[in-house]
Amino acid sequence: NVRADVSAPTPDIPPEIREWLSQDRLLLIDGKWVPAQSGKTFDVTDPATGEIIAKVAEGDKADVDLAVKAARRAFESGPWPRMTPSARGRLLHKIGDLILEHADELAALEAIDNGKPKAVAKAADVALSADMFHYMSGWATKIEGKTIPISALAAPGSDFFSVTRPEPIGVVGQIIPWNFPLLMAAWKLAPALTTGCTVVLKVAEETPLSALRLGELLLEAGLPDGVVNIIAGFGETAGAPLAAHPDVNKVAFTGSTEVGKIIVRAAANDLKRVSLELGGKSPNIILPDADLSLAIPGANAAIFFNHGQCCNAGSRLFVHRSLFDQVVEGIAAEAGKIRLGHGLAVDTEMGPLVSSVQYERVTGYLESGRAEGARTVSCGNAVPSGKGYFVPPTILTDTNPNMKVVREEIFGPVLVATPYDEVDDALIAEANNSVYGLAAGVWGRDTGRAQQVAHRLRAGTVWVNCYHVFDAALPFGGYKQSGWGREMGQAVLSNYLETKAITTRLGSL
Ligand code: ADP
Repeated sequence: NVRADVSAPTPDIPPEIREWLSQDRLLLIDGKWVPAQSGKTFDVTDPATGEIIAKVAEGDKADVDLAVKAARRAFESGPWPRMTPSARGRLLHKIGDLILEHADELAALEAIDNGKPKAVAKAADVALSADMFHYMSGWATKIEGKTIPISALAAPGSDFFSVTRPEPIGVVGQIIPWNFPLLMAAWKLAPALTTGCTVVLKVAEETPLSALRLGELLLEAGLPDGVVNIIAGFGETAGAPLAAHPDVNKVAFTGSTEVGKIIVRAAANDLKRVSLELGGKSPNIILPDADLSLAIPGANAAIFFNHGQCCNAGSRLFVHRSLFDQVVEGIAAEAGKIRLGHGLAVDTEMGPLVSSVQYERVTGYLESGRAEGARTVSCGNAVPSGKGYFVPPTILTDTNPNMKVVREEIFGPVLVATPYDEVDDALIAEANNSVYGLAAGVWGRDTGRAQQVAHRLRAGTVWVNCYHVFDAALPFGGYKQSGWGREMGQAVLSNYLETKAITTRLGSL
């Protein structure tokens, strides 16, 4: 892949967005937009051009302290946890509506901040974010306890009445990454809000913009002051004090497994609740009877969607030896058609990686793969010239299970493809041979057989004859070092609830 084949001119940023970006973007604390206590700001860059597009207040411990105080007040004495469930649900629904009303603007912000194509951001990130609020709004009125018959062995002859009462966990600290900036905010905020919690959200330093715009929409929807506070800032100076804050009852984190372990240690001091959605190195298995007209584009999208910057990317492809060459050539041809460019350009299908750090990291893995003897199949894409952090789709073959590129999460458009001979225990063991267990794919015409393989994969999500199918109703999360707990669906509610058992001694009748 040669640079300078095509240029990546910055398409015009729509005027209302340019206007919004021209003012320093501030922190949301207690219902107001405020500068950081330190007065510091940091630059946000467009990864397709390397140009600075905005200045954002840089929150640190002092701002986290204020935000936690506001969230505590909103939880203890504000209306939020005591509001009727239906009123809370209606408000969440309204937030979903506002996201849809502002879909174009939010998608454009994702395109210039994260780099992803605007059309993709609109169809995926924004649509799923709105749906998450709409779906979660329905749970507000359906969080129920149980009545439980008890034996009360120590009190013979007495009657008791026991119920469980789910209660919001309290003040929640949420820390999110840059790969789906708006959607990660929605996945985190919607369930916390529907259960009646209050929140301090720390957005990723690479991509703060869409979540800050979402903060404005939360206020427009009528969310009471202090219920959601949003801090932009860096991991060590803003994320760490939030994870360690003694007045935060629970931390929900999405990001790397490495930082997930740091979060757990920080939260251990006062044993606060923790849920984690971490990395992956997901196996994608093409069975001998797979319909290749589905499996080839499916495997292509599994790894190259969002430029490979998905924790659930299908990054380890296993193909039956009889189909191996055909599948690798097919994916290379499919991936070679992906047009790289600026996220705001209408014909762009893949943008740049999010940052120079990520560019160095992914190209470093490609070098390490080559040094360890892997063969590189480049897909032949034209790469935009200029300062953008573009890395084209690449497939690595002739690998072995000990190589870094096979074991470690690359988080970029790099697929490792391996042939296998039999659908047997050895294949399953190899697919499961990872510290991660987030997702997996299986492709086969015999869906019963594919299900059997799916049952044996140690992963929180398995897609059969599809990939990247997300739904607000479906739990998502990891086995092993891919995380603790689940996001979305009914399953996520337990991340934000405590269960109280209330037993009443009854009189005689
Ligand atoms: P990635 O590798 O995808 O950038 P990270 O795990 O580094 O993911 O970052 C995800 C989120 O965690 C970001 O909001 C980042 O600022 C935050 N973060 C990074 N380091 C820490 C830390 N030591 N404590 C708390 N949060 C952190």
